[in-house]
Amino acid sequence: MTDNTQPRAAATRPFEGTPRAAEYIERIRAFIDGELRPLADRHGLTHEHGGDRALLQQVWQRSRELGFYGMTLPEALGGAGFGVLDHVLIKEAVYASGCVLSPHVLGELTGPPRVGALARKATPDQLQRFILPVARAEMAICFAITEPEAGSDAGAVQTRAMRDGDDYVLTGRKRFISGSPYCDAAVVIASTSDDPARRETTAFFVERSRPGFAIEGGYKTMAGQTSTADIVLDGCRVPMANRIGEPGQGLGLAVGRIAVNRLLHCPTMLALARLALDDATAHATRRRQFGQPIAGFQAIQHLLADMATELAAARALMLDVARLLDAGVDARAETSMAKLFCSETAFRIADRAVQILGGEGIVQGRRVEWLFRMLRMYRVLTGTSEIQRNTIARELLAPAAAA
Ligand SMILES: Cc1cc2nc3c(=O)[nH]c(=O)nc-3n(C[C@H](O)[C@H](O)[C@H](O)COP(=O)(O)OP(=O)(O)OC[C@H]3O[C@@H](n4cnc5c(N)ncnc54)[C@H](O)[C@@H]3O)c2cc1C
Repeated sequence: MTDNTQPRAAATRPFEGTPRAAEYIERIRAFIDGELRPLADRHGLTHEHGGDRALLQQVWQRSRELGFYGMTLPEALGGAGFGVLDHVLIKEAVYASGCVLSPHVLGELTGPPRVGALARKATPDQLQRFILPVARAEMAICFAITEPEAGSDAGAVQTRAMRDGDDYVLTGRKRFISGSPYCDAAVVIASTSDDPARRETTAFFVERSRPGFAIEGGYKTMAGQTSTADIVLDGCRVPMANRIGEPGQGLGLAVGRIAVNRLLHCPTMLALARLALDDATAHATRRRQFGQPIAGFQAIQHLLADMATELAAARALMLDVARLLDAGVDARAETSMAKLFCSETAFRIADRAVQILGGEGIVQGRRVEWLFRMLRMYRVLTGTSEIQRNTIARELLAPAAAA
């Protein structure tokens, strides 16, 4: 092998965040390497066979004890008070670990990120009954907007919440709800309008223990997880005290932090894409064909070069948009650009990684094969690429349309 086929570590660059975030990342890495990896190994967990509720609860509790779980909450509720850039860098480091349990460090499936944005609208009673138990990792919660007939057009929800005295009675089906099989409660966005043509959406906390609340699973995502299911509400009665904010504010609450949330999926995708690039690089230097490592072939070198270049460009965009948000800019178009570009780029990187691994890359159980399936999903999740393009175009054309 010639020297130019030896992989070189990525250029060391100054850490882009604050010293406090750097220190946080060191502690999270120690937690993942020292506790979560051994735990996952002991229980034989894989990306497609995560732990049961009891095991996950143990991880959530431990992460809370160490101060990571509630990091994203407002500071008044125990959050760490990081800006968007630090938050992005911390998430990137969590997912770059490649650990099966990494999504549970910050409670992304059913923890604080699901309710953080609602805290300002919650009543003191709702804080006590829902938000603080979620922050303490005692309650798991999911966020339910999507329905069989309301996907990208989230405002078209048909689940009805009918006022009946001091209660609301909810009926309808919520589709594809992440974390619902593990949840103790859901935030449900329902229609409170008598006229189906008038879009009036309202948010409710709904406990799973209430009669008329059922979880129907039975499907797997293409990346193999079974943590997504439907919630069926059949005359499910909740007290008025469970309504979040005012009637008509439901969708607004749901999308209140949509710009930030869109950006916050980017570090996950790019960290996974980085793993695909690392695996492809390692394989290319190890695998020999025609008497030499395949990394000696220019065709493979160019694939790796394109992967590294596109990853660097996507990451630069992600960090730039994080800085815009920290500066208080209304970066609606830019966050959509970041979500669009990062998801499409990450998938292309995974696709090339599969190609470089050849037959090994298309055998189930190899990491790049799973990364390929996982990264395919992000082009659909949390606003499809088409919906991001619509947002970008709308923002671009808005001044022209107004003129
Ligand atoms: C694993 C998983 C987890 C999920 N988790 C949750 C969750 O926790 N909570 C929740 O509420 N939802 C969740 N969802 C739902 C997810 O947000 C939706 O699947 C997604 O928003 C797309 O909606 P849809 O599937 O109905 O697709 P559709 O809206 O039917 O879109 C189908 C196609 O049409 C295109 N399209 C639609 N409208 C337009 C338009 N105006 N212009 C151009 N193209 C358009 C789309 O881009 C797409 O290509 C989850 C889904 C999955 C698969």
